[in-house]
Amino acid sequence: MAAESEVLDAKKVVEYFEIGCRTVLNRTRPGLPFAWSINPYRGCEFGCRYCYARYTHEFMELRESEEFEKRIFAKSGVAEALRRDLKKLRAGEGVAIGTATDPYQPAERRYGRTRAMLEVFAEGGGREIAVTTKSDLVKRDAALLAEIGKRNSVSVNITITTLDAGLARLLEPKAPRPELRLGAVEALAKAGVVVGVFANPVMPLITDQEAKLDRLAKAARDRGAEWFGGGTLFLQPCARRVFFPFVAQHYPHLLRRYEERFGESAYLRGAYADAIRERVAAIRERYGLRGGPERRRPEPGTVSAQPWLF
Ligand code: SF4
Repeated sequence: MAAESEVLDAKKVVEYFEIGCRTVLNRTRPGLPFAWSINPYRGCEFGCRYCYARYTHEFMELRESEEFEKRIFAKSGVAEALRRDLKKLRAGEGVAIGTATDPYQPAERRYGRTRAMLEVFAEGGGREIAVTTKSDLVKRDAALLAEIGKRNSVSVNITITTLDAGLARLLEPKAPRPELRLGAVEALAKAGVVVGVFANPVMPLITDQEAKLDRLAKAARDRGAEWFGGGTLFLQPCARRVFFPFVAQHYPHLLRRYEERFGESAYLRGAYADAIRERVAAIRERYGLRGGPERRRPEPGTVSAQPWLF
């Protein structure tokens, strides 16, 4: 009898591994605002339904959709690798931290790989560094980021797709709730770190409504964000395999439209994309927010341990 019982709930266990790395700086595709990216972890426990980075586990012969969230790899020797890699940077080339996995996911609390790399950036000056996260753990490093910002151009992008905590729980099951992310915006701004909010990805008929985006931008501005942006959802096959079942379960009336639109292309182009761009721009103007961080240089007279690169 017991052997035939139905499973009511299976505890999801996350496993952590260490993975060696020869380099930590990766070249981005031409045309992106940053020439280099850093991802201190592989896999991401936050498990966002729309995540486009699941394919990265395919390269490691892991099943992308489940194992991306459950098997997290922390890169080892990151500080030494970064010191070596920084010699490759040319003038004007910026570094984006957290392009494929969240640098402040729960593993960071234990392994501190993101912090280890920030400490390397703190040794020098003249760099352009942007951090993107949806975790309030970034508050832990507020003083360090402010310190780095004295001799470098540093910005933090906090991703908040919705202020609705229930919807956020469904969309981003293990990410900190929206209010905690706004708290991170406030803490960073108070520490003197330049910070903004991106509502990425803006999801058609789920998070794209004018009133919802407006409320989000206002909340971000009130907590100290300097910019606000929102790019539309894109769904490559690895993301579609997770996102479509989510839509089928929670928004069944939208499934056909999603399948049709994303059946044509991974990207939303044309009138819809234009309308969202205009909507976000109008909201930004309403609250006096910029579209992104300004490039800042250190105060004159600050000492740089490394030569200026731009
Ligand atoms: S936080 Fe980013 S990397 Fe992590 S699951 Fe969500 S979208 Fe993917």
